[in-house]
Amino acid sequence: MEYLRFDNRFVRELPGDPEQGRHVRQVHGACYSRVEPTPVRAPALLAWSPEVASLLGLDEADVCSQEFAEVFGGNALVQGMEPYAACYGGHQFGNWAGQLGDGRAITLGETINPQGQRWELQLKGAGPTPYSRRADGRAVLRSSIREFLCSEAMHHLGVPTTRALSLVGTGEQVVRDMFYDGHARPEPGAVVCRVAPSFIRFGNFEIFASRGEEPLLERLIDFTIDRDFPELAGERDPVARRLRWFEEVCRRTAVLMAHWMRVGFVHGVMNTDNMSILGLTIDYGPYGWIDNFDPEWTPNTTDAGGRRYRFGHQPRIAHWNLWQLANALYPVIQQVEPLERALASYADIHEAEYRRMMQAKLGFAGWHAGEEADDGLLDTLHRLLERGEVDMTIFFRSLAEVDVEAPSLAPFADAFYDEGRRAGIEAELSGWLQAYAARLRDEAVPAAVRRAGMNRVNPLYVPRNYLAQQAIDAAEAGDLSELETLFDVLRQPYVAQPGRERFAARRPDWARHKAGCSMLSCSS
Ligand code: AMP
Ligand code: MG
Repeated sequence: MEYLRFDNRFVRELPGDPEQGRHVRQVHGACYSRVEPTPVRAPALLAWSPEVASLLGLDEADVCSQEFAEVFGGNALVQGMEPYAACYGGHQFGNWAGQLGDGRAITLGETINPQGQRWELQLKGAGPTPYSRRADGRAVLRSSIREFLCSEAMHHLGVPTTRALSLVGTGEQVVRDMFYDGHARPEPGAVVCRVAPSFIRFGNFEIFASRGEEPLLERLIDFTIDRDFPELAGERDPVARRLRWFEEVCRRTAVLMAHWMRVGFVHGVMNTDNMSILGLTIDYGPYGWIDNFDPEWTPNTTDAGGRRYRFGHQPRIAHWNLWQLANALYPVIQQVEPLERALASYADIHEAEYRRMMQAKLGFAGWHAGEEADDGLLDTLHRLLERGEVDMTIFFRSLAEVDVEAPSLAPFADAFYDEGRRAGIEAELSGWLQAYAARLRDEAVPAAVRRAGMNRVNPLYVPRNYLAQQAIDAAEAGDLSELETLFDVLRQPYVAQPGRERFAARRPDWARHKAGCSMLSCSS
């Protein structure tokens, strides 16, 4: 660990809160408050990511040392770390919520890896900060496993995301009322170390705009561009540079949404404090994965009424969130038109990216736009998948097995959840398959080439809600082997792994309405 080098630009270049201590407060005129993690009773390493460790220049001996568990459980600091909690606000469920901030996340510092890349190390669940409001700053094992697992799974799926280095058990209990229904129980606590070039969110900018702290808003924007968007350095004019930057944020967000729709990921809480300025998936809470294709589905019980953050609505919500960001930036840009143009570009870029990704999933060499062509074909397919309760992941993976000379529904035998629903769409799905096969025959791409290409973009393994829950149940009972295996399977989501077929199976019936498998609550 002596190899970790730090260069803490955020705290060095931006103003901090002059007040000391963890007491809850409104923080004005500052981007962060210095605060150390609160020590825990018995930190023990439960899981770690070899890819992230090597990204940071750490080897197995480093990670498996007691010192590592102490540092990444929050009991000790390494030379060069300067811990802080960031100040940010956010729009939650469509309403401005004021100051939020890192209530249970503490950044340890910005490390520079041997290749010269900057990685921010952040503990989640490390104890109270000035932004904890009425909560305890802790995280339970259950939600920490979910964040650890899904961060890395997303990376291996090729989806932009924050990463996870480690999962450390605290040896302490945390009391949680999982569904806010008066049934609180003590649960094991844990701390995840998250890793990303930056954890800055839309809400970091919104808070200064909401308070009229424009000089600070300007400083944070220019800092972000300078540190995290070096490709924009060539633009000399500061206002033009800020506009280029906002366009780039719109572009990255559009790409991210296309990825979520491609793999069947539902974030669950797309508040503006959970939107990364780098266009990464951030803050894994009550997220979920689509089993049967259903654009209306949301895993978040807190959102069950309005379904604001349902699967099919995510690209529109991201646009709404960018709109809030544009509002926040306006005071230091003072030009409506280019901001509106950037917002309009979001829809175009998203659509183009989404089509590009769906084209690859369907195995087409090109895309024929239009209702009578590929757009129509995809639209019909989606409606059939929804009506027939067809498993999204299995369906798309199996599509590569279709014989274009003699298409049949045989490859999809395992993709259905309900016999009645299957019977209801069978004839139409066969018709769709005929049209699809004809479309492929026109392109005359060799079958082996098409299959290999499709298998590179249609995952076989995704962190299905019930799989994560099984790993959690075992881990809570002291058995980490299920988590280890699942984590390992998800490191190669596109490659068939003999002997591990059960991880590619559709959701079993028992999991249909089980807590953790189909519904989750917001903060845990
Ligand atoms: P989330 O919905 O998880 O993104 O959280 C929204 C806000 O609540 C953020 O400011 C979090 O830091 C804060 N928060 C969530 N859980 C806790 C907790 N257990 N302790 C302190 N703050 C929390
Ligand atoms: Mg959050």
